[in-house]
Amino acid sequence: MQYPSNQSTNPALASFDISDYKGNRGKNFYEEDRVLQTVVEKYSEGYDAAHKKAMIDHLSGYGSLVGGILDELTDASHKEGKYGEIVKYDRTGNRIDQVVYSNEQKLSRKISYDYGIVNLNYHSSWKHPFTDLHRYALTYLSNQNGEGGVTCPLAMTEGMIKVLEALGTPEQKDKFLTMVAGEGSSSHFMAGQYVTERVGGSNVSANRTIARKRENGKWILTGEKWFCSNPGDVWVTTARVEDSSTIGLFLVPRIKDDGTLNGHHILRKKDIIGSRGKLTVEIVYDGVEAEALGRPAHGIANLIKYVIGISRLHVSLAASGISRRAWMEAYEYAKFRTAYGSKILEFSSLLKQLSDQRLKHTAMLASVFRHIHTPDSLKLAGEVLAPLLKYKCSSTSTEITYNSILVLGGNGIVGDFSALPRLHNDSIINETWEGTHLLLSEHVLRGFKREKVAKAFFQYTEDITDFESPAAETIRKKSKLLREILANSDAEALDLNRIYISDLAFEIFALASLSDLSGKKAPSPQKDLSLFRDGYLDLIDTGGGFADKSRFSGDSERLKSVIHY
Ligand SMILES: Cc1cc2nc3c(=O)[nH]c(=O)nc-3n(C[C@H](O)[C@H](O)[C@H](O)COP(=O)(O)OP(=O)(O)OC[C@H]3O[C@@H](n4cnc5c(N)ncnc54)[C@H](O)[C@@H]3O)c2cc1C
Repeated sequence: MQYPSNQSTNPALASFDISDYKGNRGKNFYEEDRVLQTVVEKYSEGYDAAHKKAMIDHLSGYGSLVGGILDELTDASHKEGKYGEIVKYDRTGNRIDQVVYSNEQKLSRKISYDYGIVNLNYHSSWKHPFTDLHRYALTYLSNQNGEGGVTCPLAMTEGMIKVLEALGTPEQKDKFLTMVAGEGSSSHFMAGQYVTERVGGSNVSANRTIARKRENGKWILTGEKWFCSNPGDVWVTTARVEDSSTIGLFLVPRIKDDGTLNGHHILRKKDIIGSRGKLTVEIVYDGVEAEALGRPAHGIANLIKYVIGISRLHVSLAASGISRRAWMEAYEYAKFRTAYGSKILEFSSLLKQLSDQRLKHTAMLASVFRHIHTPDSLKLAGEVLAPLLKYKCSSTSTEITYNSILVLGGNGIVGDFSALPRLHNDSIINETWEGTHLLLSEHVLRGFKREKVAKAFFQYTEDITDFESPAAETIRKKSKLLREILANSDAEALDLNRIYISDLAFEIFALASLSDLSGKKAPSPQKDLSLFRDGYLDLIDTGGGFADKSRFSGDSERLKSVIHY
């Protein structure tokens, strides 16, 4: 018997306005995103026409994959029975300690890898530079399906490529770069980076894993790593050089040259709240054979420069991508759902909430791409910007995913109705890995305490501000306040106010970055973010307080322009 049998006679079972609702599935996420297109237009101003066209075509092609097949595969690989598993032994009882992913997860990785999102410069058919703009726009798009089992490995694989390119010996490059970046390689984002131990992740110098040098130049590692995401073909890891306080950086292949398992045991798969498409496990190093990456004495410096630096940028982009998708889902639903006889988007309070969230999202996206394009002469500003953006983007992302869930009401919390619950859980993970908020705000403060770094930050902000814009006065006032706080507060006061200081620095930089994409600094009259600059300015000037009709946030026509942009 078919159920429900009495559909025609039961009025509550008739189809209704969202019966066929599919959210954003099937859309081209690049073509949908006029803010991203404005950013791309701005930073590709110096490109020759052929390069620019090829890049935009490539981005648009990926936007279509992300909204289509990759969205479907991500969904399919995040179901019970489809998450990765650890296989400890082969059929004859030999230890293999291998992570096995579902076909959906493997195909999703393969499509993105073969499309070149981490390695386009290794594709023989790509005739142009693979610029940071292009690379990180792809990263941002990729994250619009959440972590998906792909983007944490993507971050670590890019870190691996960069560290090998910079520090690898010719033999290491030959063997491992071909594996992690080569065109047609079958290792699809199978690199990792293992630093955190049972005793803690924030303080790397507390590492207890020991590295002993052998006569053949290789190293033997003994210890344990407590959070190991995506254990695959090769990883970078930290260990204390025996009888010293030096923390070195080492390269570990999963399988040794002789084909045997490299001395380690995977203890278990962690039961994590989000980012479940890839596995995070605990690993005991039981005489792992490793190679030094660069000089062990420079281990921490190289770790920060090549590994953590890239991962932090990826988290900022991931947070921006995840919250963009969450916002898109909230907006889409608000256009469809009716309550009290009208579309819920017509409620002013919801309109304001959606506008506020989009303004915050645009502020973070503008800031991240401005940071990526910091001129060489001001690169020191990155010592503040990298931790600042990792902290602020990841926390704002969770605010946006959470609020987007609320827009969908009960449907917002249902796992197979939309991607929102998964996006929210992935966003929470982004807040912790590669540094918690308090640790990162400490790094922000440490940056500001260095005179040259503080100077570069304020100089950069000034250089990008349009002083004829309405934002200029607020940028000036807030910069003055920040300088005074930094100059006049004692160490304890600064420490207690780390988060306040970071939030203030973000507002200044975000407003300046938006002003740099607006009005006379906009790349074209069609691609001009003045609306977002003015809206974000009002948001921080009112501080979420009462907004009368004379203000941006009290004017529903302007709020509508933001959400429909
Ligand atoms: C899903 C997931 C995957 C991960 N994957 C990896 C991986 O692949 N490789 C890897 O190496 N690590 C990985 N991590 C670990 C992650 O990087 C650590 O959890 C993180 O660095 C924090 O370390 P901890 O958990 O030991 O916390 P702790 O360092 O013990 O911190 C605990 C608390 O103390 C606070 N705290 C610490 N230091 C300070 C300070 N100076 N000032 C103020 N407060 C402070 C922190 O903010 C936090 O609230 C992963 C984590 C997660 C959740």
